[in-house]
Amino acid sequence: MIDTIYRCEICGEESEKPVRWIVIHCSDAQLQIFKWTKEAADKPQARHYCGEAHAQVYISRWFQSMCGQI
Ligand SMILES: [Zn+2]
Repeated sequence: MIDTIYRCEICGEESEKPVRWIVIHCSDAQLQIFKWTKEAADKPQARHYCGEAHAQVYISRWFQSMCGQI
């Protein structure tokens, strides 16, 4: 069985077995943040980040885009 390789959306770092990565499930209306679990990471709406700092980059962008729509 081949392991999935995950990639941080911000810096492009790749890992087959991420440790302390962050998973975010995102839609227009809500943002859900998870500690790394394979179950959360493999969901179709999941986004992957190598750590808190890069998750925060995405969260900031999400807030800005949300405010921009008003
Ligand atoms: Zn990163």
